[in-house]
Amino acid sequence: MSMDGRTCVITGAGRGIGRGIGIRLGEEGANVVVNYRSSEGSAAETADEVEAAGGNAIIVKADVTDREAVEAMREQCHEAFGPADVLVNNAGITADTQFTEMTREDWDRVMDVNLGGMFNCTQTFYDDIWEADEGRLINISSVVGKQGNFGQANYAAAKSGMFGFTRTIALELAQGGSTANCVAPGFTRTDMVEAVPDKVLDRIIASIPLERLAEVEDIAAVVKFLASEESAYVTGEVIDVNGGMDL
Ligand code: NAP
Repeated sequence: MSMDGRTCVITGAGRGIGRGIGIRLGEEGANVVVNYRSSEGSAAETADEVEAAGGNAIIVKADVTDREAVEAMREQCHEAFGPADVLVNNAGITADTQFTEMTREDWDRVMDVNLGGMFNCTQTFYDDIWEADEGRLINISSVVGKQGNFGQANYAAAKSGMFGFTRTIALELAQGGSTANCVAPGFTRTDMVEAVPDKVLDRIIASIPLERLAEVEDIAAVVKFLASEESAYVTGEVIDVNGGMDL
């Protein structure tokens, strides 16, 4: 168990990719803080699965856009497991519509969760990651941040904003021996993609060289590598996990 005793905070870990990451880190013996905003029942299920896999888990309700709630999450993390070694900024939302129809509210909502949430959590846990023995910051971006996507101007802007943020924090954290990286998943089978109409999804799958959507385990495997000591000399990178969509 390569992450025995390492404490990992994962935002939006009640379902989807966040849940997959939690279970994968649990398999490595990690202490996992399963953050959720509204999915309490499935966050509890994630925690059970983390423990069944060999880790320890607590669930913590916090909206990542609410700085006080995020600070309270840090307290709960410290009480249960001590300071965090790893923060995975995974919580994210979409509010898709063609740009001409996009309201300022659609824009702000997506920025607030995807970028504002990352800001709040990173700043709140920054000292923990800095002081950790090889702390890790991992931000879950998207292939859409690189390629753009029809109807997702807000989401694409937020997800590519994560790249510049991550590279900058990587420079600042390096002096303390900790790393920061992005993972940019391709289209992954979760509730977020369930919302895409079948016709559009068929076109997306046809454009993926590996001819399938990603499963959450595909993304979690790469996050596990970045969270582990094996990635000690990897920092400031964006790791694509997209079935070859860039080829
Ligand atoms: P999902 O199934 O829609 O789940 C979204 C998660 O984010 C939920 O756990 C949700 O928590 C949480 N969340 C949303 N707003 C939050 C807030 N304000 N505070 C705390 N948690 C919040 O999405 P997913 O597909 O697993 O996506 C996870 C990440 O991967 C996102 O950043 C997404 O942009 C990125 N991504 C996804 C895909 C894809 O194809 N699925 C591709 C590339 C990148 P509650 O349920 O508790 O509200």
